[in-house]
Amino acid sequence: MSPVTHALLGWLVAGVPRNLSRRERAFITAAAVVPDLDGLGAIAELATRDSQTPLLWFTEYHHAFHTALFGFVLTGLAFAFARRRWFTAALVLASFHLHLLCDIAGGRGPDGYPWPIPYLAPFSSAWQLQWEGQWALNAWPNFAVTGAALLLTFLLAWDRGYSPVGLFSERADRAFVETLRGRFPKKEGDTAMAWLTLTNVKRAAAVLLFVAIFFPLSRCARPAPGAANAQPQQQAQAPVEYTYSYAWSRFDVTEPGGYLAILSFLWPIPILLYEAFGKNRTARVVLLWLQPLLCLGAAWMIYLRTILEDPWTGAYLAWSALSAYFLASVYTAGADVCAAVKRKRAESPA
Ligand SMILES: [Zn+2]
Repeated sequence: MSPVTHALLGWLVAGVPRNLSRRERAFITAAAVVPDLDGLGAIAELATRDSQTPLLWFTEYHHAFHTALFGFVLTGLAFAFARRRWFTAALVLASFHLHLLCDIAGGRGPDGYPWPIPYLAPFSSAWQLQWEGQWALNAWPNFAVTGAALLLTFLLAWDRGYSPVGLFSERADRAFVETLRGRFPKKEGDTAMAWLTLTNVKRAAAVLLFVAIFFPLSRCARPAPGAANAQPQQQAQAPVEYTYSYAWSRFDVTEPGGYLAILSFLWPIPILLYEAFGKNRTARVVLLWLQPLLCLGAAWMIYLRTILEDPWTGAYLAWSALSAYFLASVYTAGADVCAAVKRKRAESPA
């Protein structure tokens, strides 16, 4: 992922506790970015490429900072210089490892090289951390993560009154937060958490699920026409053609399966409308328990649609949305049970 994404994620880690100082937040944010400084050797290496004594700083030292050793150095520095030592040091360690995790998840180079992380270097080369499913640096999940991190950073700035701008200038930060709160006024007692109700999580997930229907559910690779006639030794590099399949791709008016496939993306909409406007108590209780089941059913339906091909954007979006919806609906149902138990206890004489 790009250093900007790493920095935003580090900033969000620093934003977990409310009462850290500016310096402590700077430490935690920096821990998410500085590992990539080991790539700076590339400048020296490129500059001296054609000279008599080329400097191989990139070849030799890239990923020198992507090691447990460097993580512990950062943690030690934070411990030495922070006011809330243990807390800041722990978050620096977490922020640093989040960087490694993001590199493993989404750091595939343009040439397809996975950049394995030499976690135990220079003591041992035993652990070279990499992941088969790693996506490329410019793949859409990286843009999605960056977008989400940016949105959360704005929300945090609106809520707390400070932003990453403050790491450079406190005056500019005040101006930024004032502009933000001028655009979205903040009342006394208004917090970001108040927005984040379970119903709003479900609504956001329903929108995401609806959007997912417009993306391909699965991808199928087959040799391009003409590739079959290629010489055997060329077949490995023979051009492939991809076909994408959507939720409605195999829709047939007489087949119930086609309706179910589309329904697995749309079912939350009528339910959320009923939850907002419906009055019947029994129906609401039934819906409360039905929703987690519908999440599982829809996820299973989408899985069945992608089982013979590679799952693609639409499927991943839908599964993310359904997971969020599932958690929110299970929490809602659980809270309802707790409330009912409390009511029973209050009614029964002690
Ligand atoms: Zn990195």
